[in-house]
Amino acid sequence: MLSSCLNPSCNASFRYLYDGRIFTVERFVTSPDGLNTERIIEHYWLCGPCSRSMKVVVENGAPTAAPIHTERTTASGVDAPRQCLVG
Ligand SMILES: [Zn+2]
Repeated sequence: MLSSCLNPSCNASFRYLYDGRIFTVERFVTSPDGLNTERIIEHYWLCGPCSRSMKVVVENGAPTAAPIHTERTTASGVDAPRQCLVG
């Protein structure tokens, strides 16, 4: 999920928390029998340049990167803390 930028046309690899923006996506998945609903929390990352013009949206149940100006369901963004990953 977080290994690379969610933008499919971007090759940036996730290395530092301060670079770009992490989006938290909450989804509810219903079991095939329709009796149980499971809450799933997933995290996606957009690199610095992509996060300035794009956001994470959920389309047909799948998170994807979309231009910021479009009006769709928006994932809640979390500002990355100023901290480096070790290793
Ligand atoms: Zn990117």
